[in-house]
Amino acid sequence: MHVFYSEEKKGNILILEEGEVKHFRVRRIGKEEEFGVIYEERIYLCKVEKEEKSRIFCKIVGQLETKEPHKDITLYQCITVELKTMDTIVRQITELGVKRLVPIISERSFRKKDAIKRKFEKWKKIAVEAMKQAKRPIHLHVSEPMELEELEPIHEENIVLDNFYKGIKVKNVNLTAENFGVVVGPEGGFSEREGRILREKGFKSVILEPYTLKSETAAVSIVSILMNC
Ligand code: SAH
Repeated sequence: MHVFYSEEKKGNILILEEGEVKHFRVRRIGKEEEFGVIYEERIYLCKVEKEEKSRIFCKIVGQLETKEPHKDITLYQCITVELKTMDTIVRQITELGVKRLVPIISERSFRKKDAIKRKFEKWKKIAVEAMKQAKRPIHLHVSEPMELEELEPIHEENIVLDNFYKGIKVKNVNLTAENFGVVVGPEGGFSEREGRILREKGFKSVILEPYTLKSETAAVSIVSILMNC
């Protein structure tokens, strides 16, 4: 089923605007055809009520059952030097059900806070596209960027992926925990000092086997393991 996204509801009508109108027209939805519309953490079943040039009015005819992730995962992702890589990470972790993304500024990461914050609008758009694809009604929450040194192990299970340290294997993480904080490094990895700081604070250092992964592959791999265990 095709799924669209709305931010405006009037009575039992949901209104599609801007990019959603374009997306709707590309899909060539028929007059009597039913489709989904995500609005405020729900997915409604709708039919077209009326079309204008720049808006589409969708009549709510029902509600779709939605799934909730079993795990509450916060990803502390060190901002990749290649900022575009963050777009891929945002899209994939939204599909996988990550609740929160906290952009982290580390020694070897991209470090300009203002430039990072200017990406928030774009990330929201990418995350909404991923929500529609995944039929996920809940937004990915993106927090203010933080310095790596400010991180604290506030979750039930706190891990750092560090390929430079002989840490524990994933099977030795408490996989039955329901709330995880996961720190992933940038392209160049963590410095020795950063790895030590996080371990001393109580983050469990985890090594993925057998090879060295790209930052985005590492983030997506650990999230899908934790989400499905
Ligand atoms: N440039 C480094 C690799 C850094 S990989 C090198 O050539 O060795 C970027 C990040 O992905 C790391 O900081 C870590 O968080 C994660 N990562 C990649 N492969 C990993 C592995 N095998 N185990 C644990 N973490 C890994």
